[in-house]
Amino acid sequence: RIAYVNGRYVRHADAAVNVEDRGYQFADGVYEVCEVARGYIVDMKRHLDRLDRSLRALSIAWPMHRRAFELVLREVVNRNGVLNGLVYLQVTRGVAPRDFLFPAQAAPAVVITARKVDPAIAARRAETGIKVITVPENRWDRVDIKSVGLLPNVLAKQAAKEAGAQEAWFVDTDGTVKEGGSSNAWIVTADGRLVTRPAEHGILRGITRTTLLEVAAGLGLAVEERGFTVAEAKAAREAFISSATTIAMPVVEIDGSPIANGHPGSMVLSLRAAFFDVAEKCQA
Ligand code: PMP
Repeated sequence: RIAYVNGRYVRHADAAVNVEDRGYQFADGVYEVCEVARGYIVDMKRHLDRLDRSLRALSIAWPMHRRAFELVLREVVNRNGVLNGLVYLQVTRGVAPRDFLFPAQAAPAVVITARKVDPAIAARRAETGIKVITVPENRWDRVDIKSVGLLPNVLAKQAAKEAGAQEAWFVDTDGTVKEGGSSNAWIVTADGRLVTRPAEHGILRGITRTTLLEVAAGLGLAVEERGFTVAEAKAAREAFISSATTIAMPVVEIDGSPIANGHPGSMVLSLRAAFFDVAEKCQA
């Protein structure tokens, strides 16, 4: 495997960053994970738009011209022979002697990796669905920035695993579901309306979420962008999560309560099926 580190393509096993990288010391950096499908980086433009937003929010400069970034992303995918899988990119504020203040000199540091993932694994998972647990929101209020500071997400997802579940939903003090540890949260109401939290309200604006909203519009589905409570989710006709790695993945249990008959819903499965047609149009 090959990784891209600060201007060089290196063997993944030999790839390394400086011990004074601020990403390592302060989580002072941002990242993106893009799905690779049939050799294409799905929704690359949207991922780079979001990267731009995250970088601006933290006053980190682009490490290279955006066009060059696109080429390098594709190059890492190609050099690793990834047809289906993921490409991960991370930009940190750079390397400087440890100090809280922004360094005057440091150039942003970049790491890009890619790996193959067998699409059959997610496809099988979608046939049975996943379980989620709920946990109290304990993150800062700028989770709209895709920062590498993911410790609450790590702990929440580990708690989910230990409870026999695959995702944890962060719940706000008002009882509404915010999002998953690495996904956005959705339900389908009894009358067949898709519901997902507005992206302005304390969540990451998922790229998959945005594309699924377009897919839903194309399928003529009714959508409500509003908060929903855990109780509403447990009583919903369907529930599911979205992310670049799961696309749209049925949720069949929340905190041990089965959703509907405990099997994946039909709406999430049709959204999942329709996703790639729309995503591929976003290549240009
Ligand atoms: N919320 C959080 C906290 C995430 O980490 C992710 C995955 N990056 C998402 C939502 C989903 O975003 P996307 O669809 O862009 O993968």
